Amino acid sequence: MDLAYTPRQQAFRQEVREWLAAHVPAERLVTLERQDGFDQHVAWERELASGNWGMVTWPSEYGGRGLDLIEWLIFEEEYWAAGAPLRANQNGIFLLGPTLMEFGMPDQKARFLTSMASGEEIWAQAWSEPQAGSDLAAVRATARREGDEYVLSGHKIWSSRAVFADWAFGLFRTDPGSERHKGLSLIFFPLDAPGVRVQAIPQIDGETGFAEIFLEDVRVPAFNRLGEEGQGWHICMATAGFERGLMLRSPARFQMAAKRLVELYKKHEAECDPTIRAAVLQAYMDAEAYALSIYSTASRLIAGGKIGAEASTNKIFWSEMDIAMHKTALSILGARAELVRSAPAAGEDARWLEGYFFSLAGPIYAGSNEIQKNIIAERMLGLPRG
Ligand SMILES: Cc1cc2nc3c(=O)[nH]c(=O)nc-3n(C[C@H](O)[C@H](O)[C@H](O)COP(=O)(O)OP(=O)(O)OC[C@H]3O[C@@H](n4cnc5c(N)ncnc54)[C@H](O)[C@@H]3O)c2cc1C
Repeated sequence: MDLAYTPRQQAFRQEVREWLAAHVPAERLVTLERQDGFDQHVAWERELASGNWGMVTWPSEYGGRGLDLIEWLIFEEEYWAAGAPLRANQNGIFLLGPTLMEFGMPDQKARFLTSMASGEEIWAQAWSEPQAGSDLAAVRATARREGDEYVLSGHKIWSSRAVFADWAFGLFRTDPGSERHKGLSLIFFPLDAPGVRVQAIPQIDGETGFAEIFLEDVRVPAFNRLGEEGQGWHICMATAGFERGLMLRSPARFQMAAKRLVELYKKHEAECDPTIRAAVLQAYMDAEAYALSIYSTASRLIAGGKIGAEASTNKIFWSEMDIAMHKTALSILGARAELVRSAPAAGEDARWLEGYFFSLAGPIYAGSNEIQKNIIAERMLGLPRG
């Protein structure tokens, strides 16, 4: 095993670093959970696209650079080290993009990947329904075939940033007599199509990124179906694999947080309880271990392997690590941890409280950790169904 970077990878790292140093906005952008902040993040997506950085692993004809997953990890390391903004199109580039690469027809890839890489079309994920969250196979939204079109009806919920996005990829029942995992299809729809109503769900922090989506006889061309009719469950599980096992949470995100945590600890060491030192070290080691594990996954995929049920162990690991890191930071800050961003004395310390609140959602989104444990028990350990 050779863990050294090749000269080509090192040159690539340098190129990314230089471009980001010249382009990353000097001021932190407003949160992408609000319209003004989202617009700023979309402008940043377009800036990235101007340098062909939309998604480096995609072929150049779709706006990528034809690179491999190790180079993507290098890109992500430089991206997080440069303090670059969160990706407004994360649902598109990290979830739908790899799925389209695997299941899309060439003209679907040309149509949808290109505008995703360029930041012209921003995507939301529309899978969950009021009665179909953990139990996603209970999806009730329907897609009725009429000639060359599907007619969509139903109610989706918890769609991140659908209020601001242009398109959504949804799971629909195409076979009306079907039950559970059978008879489902993955279909794209424009969020401004006639019959679509997107309603914001205000969050506890006052932001409005989440949405419910109501669909009433929404007509879309059959071209918008990904894969075969009835293959939706299989495709969604492939998307969930990329989400949980690789792309949604790149290791650099946690390595940067661990570095910030070490700096925070050094600044406050004198006031810290001795147990905090061990928690800081654990956070640092966990972030490094996670990075090595993802490098191993990326190498396996490059060699032709697939992501399987082990994506669930990965998801549990990063979501629990994120909470632990933020809790440690709050312990270091003591009473200062409670200062919100608008407090005059808060400064950059407020990022830890904000990060902590978001980390609490980690065990829920991308499939709750309890469900991941069921998957591990049944598919990795071969235990009987609970
Ligand atoms: C920040 C965030 C962003 C999200 N973004 C999106 C998005 O963009 N698009 C989208 O479609 N959805 C999104 N979701 C929804 C998310 O996928 C669901 O919230 C999640 O799947 C859980 O479903 P639920 O909320 O209906 O909870 P429920 O399914 O009602 O579960 C409630 C609790 O019961 C537990 N539970 C349920 N069934 C079992 C079981 N069989 N065994 C053990 N425990 C069980 C769960 O683990 C959970 O703790 C998002 C959620 C969050 C928090």
